[in-house]
Amino acid sequence: MPDHVIPAAPVPTIPTADGGAFPVRRVYCIGRNFAAHAVEMGHDPDREPPFFFQKTPDSLDPSGQFPYPPKTSDVHHEVELLVALKSGGTDIPVDTALDHVWGYGISLDMTRRDLQGEAKKLGRPWEIGKSFERSGPVGPLHPVTQVGHPSEGRIALTVNGETRQEGDLNQMIWKVPEMIAYLSEYFTLAPGDVIMAGTPAGVGPVARGDVMEAEIAGLGTLTVTVV
Ligand code: MN
Repeated sequence: MPDHVIPAAPVPTIPTADGGAFPVRRVYCIGRNFAAHAVEMGHDPDREPPFFFQKTPDSLDPSGQFPYPPKTSDVHHEVELLVALKSGGTDIPVDTALDHVWGYGISLDMTRRDLQGEAKKLGRPWEIGKSFERSGPVGPLHPVTQVGHPSEGRIALTVNGETRQEGDLNQMIWKVPEMIAYLSEYFTLAPGDVIMAGTPAGVGPVARGDVMEAEIAGLGTLTVTVV
């Protein structure tokens, strides 16, 4: 193989609770996966087929700090379950889909809502609103061997101690095995792929200095300061 002509970028990783590092290949994010959030965004909560967008892997950030991004005045928090895959494939059946999961964590799908809104109105892609520098704060990943497969329990986010988002994992319209199966019909899933599993109702803006604390039952908490 020819030599690289510039230095290769490092592989982004997410720390694991037991001191390891999970190398990330792709980041898939599902839209409108909680009925109450679909309604608050002006959509029908019926079980229409899921849809996905991607963030770039290097936008994941375990630092605990979220720098307020440029070109926006309306950055929203979205707390989400993060699903990390240890294996993949195509056309994965729902009933074996969980065999591909390495573990779970807490993530934030930070969103430049004003730019996403413009993109929606113009029928343009969402990247400018969703996939920007450090737009994916993440907490440590917990292996399935320790936490199992969380399918119910509280998912919530506070800002400066005030509850903003609250829901239960059992309210997800598309469950984790269904998301994996569906994605694998359209993409070849592989080790290192992660899925942000959608956010409950209550999304809203943050400002510099705000402290966000995200919580998912069984996975602890994730604290992120807006800087
Ligand atoms: Mn989201």
